[in-house]
Amino acid sequence: MCSILEKYDLGQFYKDLEALGISLSEKQIQQFVVYYEMLVERNKDVNLTAITDFDGVFKKHFIDSLSLVKCRDLSGADSEAALIDIGTGAGFPGIPLKIAFPHLKVTLVDSLHKRVVFLGEVIDRLGLAGTEAIHGRAEDHAKPERLRERYDICVSRAVANLSTLSEYCLPYVKIGGSFVAYKSEKAEEELREAAAAIRILGGEAAGQVTFMLPGSDIYRSLVTIAKVSATPAKYPRKAGTADRKPLQ
Ligand code: SAM
Repeated sequence: MCSILEKYDLGQFYKDLEALGISLSEKQIQQFVVYYEMLVERNKDVNLTAITDFDGVFKKHFIDSLSLVKCRDLSGADSEAALIDIGTGAGFPGIPLKIAFPHLKVTLVDSLHKRVVFLGEVIDRLGLAGTEAIHGRAEDHAKPERLRERYDICVSRAVANLSTLSEYCLPYVKIGGSFVAYKSEKAEEELREAAAAIRILGGEAAGQVTFMLPGSDIYRSLVTIAKVSATPAKYPRKAGTADRKPLQ
């Protein structure tokens, strides 16, 4: 039987993985390919991604998601971390991180139900044990104890400005854990504007790593906010407030 891997040219993906210092088994590569095929197929009915070509998805979604290794040791100290991805959409960055680092315990949150249904199908099909997809707004799930201050790492890409995003994300992070925002060229400016929000929510700016995605001119900045004290119980505010009136 022809392997699914023979259908595609995976050369660039292998090079990019090597540049990030990530080595995957054939099973994991197959999981990425199956995820790609599911994404493109479902994208015909449900709006999941504007990028659908093979090279684009592998670079701009998969490699970009995995670039978290630039600031976290996911094959060492953080390998069994509890990680939550807020506003995950079609699963970025959470699903690629789970495929590449299967010992992570991953929670995916998104407010669009159809996307969460898709994520459930991906989790089942790829057999991603220790992964849950939750439908709803970040502000609503951060209040109950089950998820509040339970995570070692919270990640989020392309969801909101850093001030709003800190109110969505920091309530989920344990003291001693951190929130990593996938940002672009405006990271410095966003950090300045979010300084008060980060402090109010129990965070502290703890570093920024900037780089080009391997083999590309795509700029990425990973901004780390350490959780240094408990988030006051009144945060996050009612759904929609952090977006309309970011903390200043
Ligand atoms: N993170 C994914 C990525 O990088 O491809 C998706 C980015 S998409 C532009 C933003 C996603 O955030 C959407 O799927 C949207 O439904 C979700 N979202 C926006 N605000 C949210 C909130 N308050 N709580 C949960 N999800 C939210």
